Amino acid sequence: MQSWPSTQVPRVPGTPRPLRLYDTAAGEIRPTAPGPTATMYVCGITPYDATHLGHAATYLAFDLVHRQWLDNGHEVHYVQNVTDVDDPLLERAERDKDDWVVLAMRETALFREDMTALRVLPPKDYIGAVESIPEIVETVGKLLAAGVAYRVDDAEYPDIYYSHLASGRFGTVSNYSPEQMATYFAERGGDPDRPGKRHPLDALLWRAARPGEPSWESELGPGRPGWHVECSVIALNRLGMGFDVQGGGSDLIFPHHEFSAAHAEALTGEHPFARHYSHAGMIGLHGEKMSKSRGNLVFVSRLRADQVDPMAIRLGLLSGHYRADRPWTDEVLSTAQDRLARWRAAVSLAAAPPAGDLVDRLRTHLANDLDTPAALAAVDAWADEALSTGGADENSGALVRTAVDALLGVLL
Ligand code: ZN
Repeated sequence: MQSWPSTQVPRVPGTPRPLRLYDTAAGEIRPTAPGPTATMYVCGITPYDATHLGHAATYLAFDLVHRQWLDNGHEVHYVQNVTDVDDPLLERAERDKDDWVVLAMRETALFREDMTALRVLPPKDYIGAVESIPEIVETVGKLLAAGVAYRVDDAEYPDIYYSHLASGRFGTVSNYSPEQMATYFAERGGDPDRPGKRHPLDALLWRAARPGEPSWESELGPGRPGWHVECSVIALNRLGMGFDVQGGGSDLIFPHHEFSAAHAEALTGEHPFARHYSHAGMIGLHGEKMSKSRGNLVFVSRLRADQVDPMAIRLGLLSGHYRADRPWTDEVLSTAQDRLARWRAAVSLAAAPPAGDLVDRLRTHLANDLDTPAALAAVDAWADEALSTGGADENSGALVRTAVDALLGVLL
């Protein structure tokens, strides 16, 4: 699948800081320790609706991971999927009397536009579920052969499920209790009551063809893939086991990331699937999580249509810490717009205070689990001083512009 255009990331003078990042599995902030090529997989959208600010906040968080690694001189192999066949997409197409393929193409195109406008660096591999079906079929076949997957006893719809305890490490990503697992499994797309399953938590690998649903011929029989195995396969076949960061929103911790890891670990006999499991908080509106089920979505494309500068959207979402659940309000946006204007005015001055220390502070804050509130405050302090008392350094405006571009992705 076609990714979106990249932007040039300038080199920043001074000394980079290795990135430390919170790991959900370990429950602590740990150094990321990439080799020459850092590797990251971030779960992509199911393209049945436009990109909302919750999505944008997640992709911005991992864009900062990408940027800190580039600053440290790593190449970055970034992979993202598009779940371009799954129940929510088919249900929306059915509701709107739309063609599901056209709906997916339209929303994926809009997502690319939004990511480009927000200056999110593109994945090297942007991979759809549909184009991955041959890989998924091969993997599900191997899981069956290894005895860690089974067909339900249903002659009409012989779906294939994964025995959730097969890797021996189930639960080590989320660290959730059995009660939490049962709750989230039921809430987030699982089917605990499907007759014929050996355990309510076993996850769907291959859904046998149903009338009126798209399906693909395969050696597993006609059908379509489950969601968790899609990400398992796309990541494993491009990054291998032990890649540096698996990312997504915190609502993907369980069951999605738990199962993606479990499938891959059961398949290979190796662990870990990813060395860091990193999760972004949820964006709320009027006191509730932004979600399609609540119908309280603020779309990036809508803000863009209203002439909101995408850099202000970016700054607004980065003004809170990526792991925190946080609200989007008119005040968040207006503060971001004021900040953007102030920063732009400061870097345009003929002379300003020296900025070497600021660049150092920016790197230190971002290396500390992407502490963007502290990073933004550091730039604010420099900009306020520049605008109130001026300075004598004729190069510092250009240096700040470069650092804010490379490290925060904000074009001044
Ligand atoms: Zn995923």
